[in-house]
Amino acid sequence: MNRRTFLGWITTTAWAVSSFSAQAMEFKAQKVTDGVYAYIGPITDRTPENLGLNNNIGFIDTAKGWVLVDSGAGDAAAKKLEAIAKGIKDQPIVAVINIGSQDHRWLGNDYFSKQGAKIYAYAGSVKTQTAMFNQEVESLVRKVPALKGVKMKTADVVLEKASNTLNIGGVEMQLNFYGDAHFPGDSALWLPKQKVLFTGDMVYLDRMLGVHPWSNPITWNEAYQEMRKLPANFIVPGHGQVSDWKKADAETGNYLKKLVSTMTQLAEDFAGVDTAVEENRDWPEFKHLKHYDSWHKQNVNRTYLKLEASM
Ligand SMILES: [Zn+2]
Repeated sequence: MNRRTFLGWITTTAWAVSSFSAQAMEFKAQKVTDGVYAYIGPITDRTPENLGLNNNIGFIDTAKGWVLVDSGAGDAAAKKLEAIAKGIKDQPIVAVINIGSQDHRWLGNDYFSKQGAKIYAYAGSVKTQTAMFNQEVESLVRKVPALKGVKMKTADVVLEKASNTLNIGGVEMQLNFYGDAHFPGDSALWLPKQKVLFTGDMVYLDRMLGVHPWSNPITWNEAYQEMRKLPANFIVPGHGQVSDWKKADAETGNYLKKLVSTMTQLAEDFAGVDTAVEENRDWPEFKHLKHYDSWHKQNVNRTYLKLEASM
């Protein structure tokens, strides 16, 4: 075949492959309890197929319409979430509540705002969103080119207090801030009547949580313990399957506790980061979590250095 035919063949094949895998990824929500649903994203990285929706998103049915807990990572992802909501019940999306500032929690705000939704967030989340927008978009678009061109849209209603009670369409909700966690200003949404807690990235299930350079594992651990007092029956984590406190403790709470207490001891002893990592390479109770091999060592490393710097 000549060069032009060959290139045409490559383009067609690439298109066929990507459209096949796009079809393979199904975007749907599961029922958590009456009036509350969740999209549970795959616990992989962001890919062109998952449109950056490798996290969980909540859907709350109210008398006024849908309230979404987080908005996905840009317009294409937001459209998928809109279709999920309308597929359950055809009513407008009246509000989006951001419970964090990582790309897939808020970069769909602009799309939903243009459809008439009011955006709510805790002030600390808005601060981080604004500061990290450019960095987040750049890294997101590298992984998911279809999300290019996303515009910054932060909350219309910025909540300043650590605990804020909202009533939207007859459903009571509490947007609570417990402390800087995976990102500064991470919050959680509590539905007291339904006993559902959307933890955002304060809880990771089925996969290892990640300590980034901007994460604070020390206040994250304290925040988790404080949030743990809520009598939740359903935990919708930031990543992983809907579960209960028992599993959240086993896969996030106990990990944070061990991470902070072990590294505090080592930092007080000036053990050095290499020793800290070497001695703690193997934590068998968490080894079943996906991404343990790529994240655990990194988490130990960053937590040790943060504690050492604070001494
Ligand atoms: Zn996340």
